[in-house]
Amino acid sequence: MPEHSPRLKHPSRNRSRKSSNGAAPPETPLVGAHMPTTGGIHRALLEGAAIGCTAVQLFTSSPQQWKSRSLTPEQIALFGETHVETGCVPLIVHDSYLINLATASTDLREKSQRAFLEEMERCEALGIQYLVTHCGARGDESEEQGLSRLADSLSTIHRATAGYRLRVALEITAGQGTCLGHRFEQFTQVLHECPESDRLSVCFDTCHAFAAGYDFREREGYERVMEEFDDAIGLNRLAVLHLNDSRKDLGTRVDRHHHIGRGYIGAEAFRLIMRDPRFEGIPKIVETPDFSLHKENIRVLRGLAKVSRRIGPRTKLPFPLAGEPAAQEEISANTPQESAPVVTLPELAAIT
Ligand SMILES: [Zn+2]
Ligand SMILES: [Zn+2]
Repeated sequence: MPEHSPRLKHPSRNRSRKSSNGAAPPETPLVGAHMPTTGGIHRALLEGAAIGCTAVQLFTSSPQQWKSRSLTPEQIALFGETHVETGCVPLIVHDSYLINLATASTDLREKSQRAFLEEMERCEALGIQYLVTHCGARGDESEEQGLSRLADSLSTIHRATAGYRLRVALEITAGQGTCLGHRFEQFTQVLHECPESDRLSVCFDTCHAFAAGYDFREREGYERVMEEFDDAIGLNRLAVLHLNDSRKDLGTRVDRHHHIGRGYIGAEAFRLIMRDPRFEGIPKIVETPDFSLHKENIRVLRGLAKVSRRIGPRTKLPFPLAGEPAAQEEISANTPQESAPVVTLPELAAIT
């Protein structure tokens, strides 16, 4: 086990403090953000450490281009050294937005599989744990056909990457257009049809699941949604949590990320997640607008992990929200605030 920086706690400490009785979560939960890679991929780790990330997500190439350069041995070595220096936090990569492993178009599917394999090669070389990908879009085909194509693509990919430590994490989507992955049952089909399904895990994005119609804003709904997830997918498959509030209301199937506690989801859901002992060892990644506010969003999440009472629409929080002066600590549970910038995933790409 490599040495870690005194600034960041090693994830194994979290695991060693695991409680089975719903007691207080560890003082340093695995919380981080999608970090930019301007100046080199290792910069994501340095910038992440500087704002207190105990988990980091990044892109390994431009997410809106097919062309990707393979990493040089120097880049890989520098990334590895920086990873050790910054505390060996869990690492997650998000794949390119162009990749569609479910498409009926043979050309696009093959191109997507090739690009995805390159993503996997880079991740494996860098020691990344999870490669998060969206489930693709079905186009004119039925949902069932699209999901079968996705399962086929994944099995091709798994065959080509035998022995990899890296795991693919399929992300819950908002279900925009013909995008797949917005119902838990869709994952059941993919897991059923994919021969090496033990190599698959799932990423739960709060903004996406909420926009897709899952209501986990209050304790009762939260428990019901998690139970549904467990029945259809299995909570043991949950590998990554994307913690984003939503600019759009429940069931709108539109993917617009918002700062924690500022959107239609509200702070209570994030408090429930942050204090859920089942998710203690799972990296929680913020993909909210304006990465200069990541530090604040992470601080809000850490604060929620410590707040034991229920957060209501007019609760005063013991910490200010991102970008707000300390005097204005009132949080709106379900009414989005318009002042903060909004980001969509392609916009997020622009900050890398
Ligand atoms: Zn996400
Ligand atoms: Zn999104």
